[in-house]
Amino acid sequence: MKQLITNVLIVDGSGDPARGGEVLIANGSIAAVSYRRGGIGAASAPVFNGQGMALAPGFIDAHGHSDMSLLASPGAIGKISQGITSEIAGNCGLSPFPVTDMNRDHLEALWRSYNEKISWSDYAGYRRELLRRSPAINLYSQCGHNTLRAAVAGYEKEELSAAELDGMRRLLLRELQSGAVGFSTGLLYTPGVFSTGGELVALLRVLAPFLRVYTTHLRSEGNRLIESVAESVRLCREAGQRYLHLSHLKTAGAANHHKIDELLELLRREGGDGALSISADRYPYVESLTQLSVALPSPYDKMDDVSLMDFLQDEDNFQTVVEALRTQGEERLHRIRLVSTGYLPFKRYIGLKFLDISNICMNSASYIVAELLRRDAPGAMAAFCGMSVENLRRILRLPFVACGTDESARPQSFEFGVSHPRGFGSMPRFIRMLTDEAFSFEEAVARVTSLPARIFNLSNRGRIAADMAADLVLLDPDRFYSDANFSQPHELASGVAAVWVNGKIKYQPDAGKGVS
Ligand SMILES: [Zn+2]
Repeated sequence: MKQLITNVLIVDGSGDPARGGEVLIANGSIAAVSYRRGGIGAASAPVFNGQGMALAPGFIDAHGHSDMSLLASPGAIGKISQGITSEIAGNCGLSPFPVTDMNRDHLEALWRSYNEKISWSDYAGYRRELLRRSPAINLYSQCGHNTLRAAVAGYEKEELSAAELDGMRRLLLRELQSGAVGFSTGLLYTPGVFSTGGELVALLRVLAPFLRVYTTHLRSEGNRLIESVAESVRLCREAGQRYLHLSHLKTAGAANHHKIDELLELLRREGGDGALSISADRYPYVESLTQLSVALPSPYDKMDDVSLMDFLQDEDNFQTVVEALRTQGEERLHRIRLVSTGYLPFKRYIGLKFLDISNICMNSASYIVAELLRRDAPGAMAAFCGMSVENLRRILRLPFVACGTDESARPQSFEFGVSHPRGFGSMPRFIRMLTDEAFSFEEAVARVTSLPARIFNLSNRGRIAADMAADLVLLDPDRFYSDANFSQPHELASGVAAVWVNGKIKYQPDAGKGVS
């Protein structure tokens, strides 16, 4: 299978200025690149005329959660329509492997909206099942600490025995040997929240010889942000782990916005000494999306969503939780926005803040939040607005920050739930914010191609050059933008004319409208 893409401005992913040229694809790879018209010659390949648009390497989503959604919805329209051809999954400590009797039911309940049976037990088995569905994009998985811990000790055990820790080390080693691209933690979530420094160092020692990345959703992104970054640095140094990647880097909560200077100084000081390399990802939005259950006060915030939902079935427990929320303050809940729920009667309120929902339902926000959690805690997702636009800009300016959607691949329909608009619009927004900051388009493209390829060791992706995989995006830089918002989160990005994944066209919105 050959194809010659002519009449394009090649943005090769290095950050260098674009140059006119043509690209020959053969057997899923880039066979040749020429920077003069007719340079490759009539290679007896069908010609695709790029109409003078930019041809860039396929974008790499440095932080995604398509582990299960890509099985259920392999077309990945939300990702591919914004130019994404590869995603790093297994983030925030959550991966669909390793699976044992200790965590299988829990994982199936967590992902129940996708209606998928977990028939595998390890990365290799998961990978086989994924590839059997022929997903539109490439998926690279990390082994997640929460899944790993639950596979040997379940979701409730706080302190691990030596044998359990040993079991975790063995399973992590197995998944890394099968090709997992990194190891991730989500130390805010159960059971990662129970882990000690000693446990994490023991696991990082298994990872270190592979020279792959340790990614972490920090224990705290707000009140203890600096301490949490410092902890990650310390653990990596102690274990001899050289690559640290901070997930969705932010200063969460207005009271913590001023920590940005200290944060940037800490990263500058610790990331540049040769023994440790620090990178990060960020979505270009200031509202975060996570489980609604994180709005609960202690001790309910320590419960996983499946146990929480069980717990709330009891009327006394339910009332106690409503009261605890009320004591914490209605006003805090009013600013939170409902993004997704599997509970039918509340679907019409998706996109609204709890202040509005509370007014419409004539009930307190505390009651409504508890009710949503009682009906469907795992499916209740909410947007929390606690981030600063100015800090977002400062974070994006850092040369080691890639773009991560923090979302799962979705169809345009809402059949598998509603996405944060970042699931459809991160790439155009990220690139636009950088070009607004006086970066060139080429430099912005490098941040979503060669940079993440380097961080995650994807040696054959992220550049346009001979022998690289033929993952390509043809786009009009001036028209590349996203209108997706919380009312219309699944709005497709505009400006993308065609996307190739491993040499095959997987997205071409105007194919029927005369693009030859
Ligand atoms: Zn996370």
